[in-house]
Amino acid sequence: MTKRIHVDRGRCTGIGMCEAVAPNHFEVDDEAEVTLLVEEVTEKDRALIEEAVRACPALALRLEEA
Ligand code: SF4
Repeated sequence: MTKRIHVDRGRCTGIGMCEAVAPNHFEVDDEAEVTLLVEEVTEKDRALIEEAVRACPALALRLEEA
């Protein structure tokens, strides 16, 4: 089933671990603002995005049902 990435912007501190793990999905700009480049997570990318979610030290990421 397709999942969607959700960012809790109140928690995100722009550390950029998500971008380091999955640069095709996350981009952190100079103002520490994270942009989702791709919101929907395909089966193929699922494990990678789960890793990015776990890597976020601010617990700002989660996967939800699309
Ligand atoms: S790893 Fe978490 S805190 Fe860091 S930029 Fe990504 S979402 Fe924000």
